[in-house]
Amino acid sequence: NQQANNSGKAKVISIINHKGGVAKTTTAINLGKALSLLGKKVLLVDIDAQGNLSQALGIDQPEKQLVNALLDDEPLPIYNISENLDLSPSDLELADADLELVQQIGGFNRLNKVLQPVLNDYDYVLVDCPPALNIITNAALVAADSCLITLQPEISAIKGLDKLLSRVQQVQEEINDKLTVEGVVFTLVKNQLVIHQENMDYVKEALAGFRVFESVIRVNVAITESQSAQQDVFSYQPKSNGADDYMSLAYEVLGVN
Ligand code: ADP
Ligand code: MG
Repeated sequence: NQQANNSGKAKVISIINHKGGVAKTTTAINLGKALSLLGKKVLLVDIDAQGNLSQALGIDQPEKQLVNALLDDEPLPIYNISENLDLSPSDLELADADLELVQQIGGFNRLNKVLQPVLNDYDYVLVDCPPALNIITNAALVAADSCLITLQPEISAIKGLDKLLSRVQQVQEEINDKLTVEGVVFTLVKNQLVIHQENMDYVKEALAGFRVFESVIRVNVAITESQSAQQDVFSYQPKSNGADDYMSLAYEVLGVN
């Protein structure tokens, strides 16, 4: 059991990749849960109009949503999920926010602004981004201290990495000079596939200078099932590869392994 530190301001980590299906949402849920189990206070922010994160945690069609804070100057809506773990939810209503945010002066700064009043209440804020490099993802990068890139060890996924990293660099140079790359985490890994091992080695070499996490997230049926059950993998099956892998990642993020 670890002590909650609550020392000052939360670290905001945006989980990004413009590809869909690469475990951004899964990582937000399970890394968030792992950190909360280690005594950290965690806020998950669902900034994807698909609302997968909110649904996966059992918050369907929430009355108050993130979009109300982004567009209507309302305070950030926060729902408690479990001990040390809160969620600011979204659903399809966020889909129209793109256009409105583009039109507003400082639209890209809105998430940053609405997060400020709650940062002292948390150790970590994890922002689950949409599968696009749009204004929503920009807003998440502007609000972030760092970004965590989830990456499948497939050639098609690796090919998009340059574009993603140059977007991060652009935001860093032009708007948010504190933004760093937290690291790249491999997801949906099949350890028995030689090509996955080779691709991971290739990325580690190509990304010298960036952190590539030692922990990799293996394909695990408990993770798939936990989402149907609207649970994190620790609640669904604490003794599973999925739980082990995300706990290991959490220790790495904390820098204590
Ligand atoms: P994204 O948010 O990047 O679009 P998701 O987190 O929604 O990706 O994951 C895509 C799909 O892959 C989901 O159905 C999810 O349950 C499944 N998935 C993600 N990680 C794993 C894993 N480690 N093992 C098995 N299934 C996984
Ligand atoms: Mg998602």
